[in-house]
Amino acid sequence: MFASVMTVSQVMAQSSAKPTVAVLATGGTIAGTAAQQSQTTGYKPGVLTAQALIASVPSLGEVANVTAEQVVNVGSDNMDNPILLKLAKRINTLLQRDDVSGVVVTHGTDTLEETAYFLNLVVKSDKPVVVTGSMRPSTAIGADGPSNILQAVAVAASPQAKGRGVMVVLNDRIGSARFTTKTDANALDTFKSPEAGDLGRLVNQVPLFETQVAKRHTVQTPFDISQLDTLPKVDILYGYQNDSGYLYDAAVQNHAQGIVVAGVGAGSESNFVLPAIRNAIQKGVVVVRSTRAGSGYIPEDDAYVGLLGDTLNPQKARILLMLALTVTHDPAKIQQMLHTF
Ligand code: ASP
Repeated sequence: MFASVMTVSQVMAQSSAKPTVAVLATGGTIAGTAAQQSQTTGYKPGVLTAQALIASVPSLGEVANVTAEQVVNVGSDNMDNPILLKLAKRINTLLQRDDVSGVVVTHGTDTLEETAYFLNLVVKSDKPVVVTGSMRPSTAIGADGPSNILQAVAVAASPQAKGRGVMVVLNDRIGSARFTTKTDANALDTFKSPEAGDLGRLVNQVPLFETQVAKRHTVQTPFDISQLDTLPKVDILYGYQNDSGYLYDAAVQNHAQGIVVAGVGAGSESNFVLPAIRNAIQKGVVVVRSTRAGSGYIPEDDAYVGLLGDTLNPQKARILLMLALTVTHDPAKIQQMLHTF
């Protein structure tokens, strides 16, 4: 006879006290509504409140005591640095409390990975923090939001989730914020961790962990946002055939402290933009090479300039570079951070 996986309520029934999980809602499709059940586009994101989201999943009560708070209610294309700082500060405050076991953030999927990686670098606790969202609005047939919320709370309530850094949970997958990225603009199963793989999965809504990430996170980083109201400006510029150096000049003129090059291939920079990138570096801008390829490692190459983005995709490299610039402008130290986190 095969051992069966318990349901999440069976797991929770075994433990005496239910953990408390704080759900912080920020908007997105998971809180979105449309006129028609068939609509998976053209809906309005960020409509449902945090309380309404929780109320849509009655079985949450079997998993944890859940509290709900609204941080903002926006589409994640409109997430900005002030919201990131507000969210992270609130999470750090909540996790200091003995009666809070973990946090779930509901978020639009478009920039979810950026918020998740930011939190992965600035949360100062080893308690679980899980970011989730949905691809279908709450009014759609087969809406994925309720299941994703239940799974996210199950992970945040799990003692096994402690110390793994911030996690992204959707569609039965548990991914690390360091590696998880949105891979498809429309598909339900869009969040993947290319090459690195997921941390684990959920079966019967029970988290089953399989791997750890070696990159450092949360309490192991030097980033302290508690006193910050702003973050350094870092832009991302894309590499393509016949690309234009004037975009780099514009970033410098607009006071970017950092630029991430979403370079072609393994972070290659064309002869069309290299003089402008050199000029930016000479003016004190910290440049990081990344790749537009979707995944991969950036090797050293004397033909190009800038720090190496390791395996960070451009949007994650930008998050790390912003935080690095709050601590140092020393390129050697920032390079080490790019390899460490
Ligand atoms: N545009 C939405 C957002 O990121 C998409 C989603 O949530 O899936 O807020």
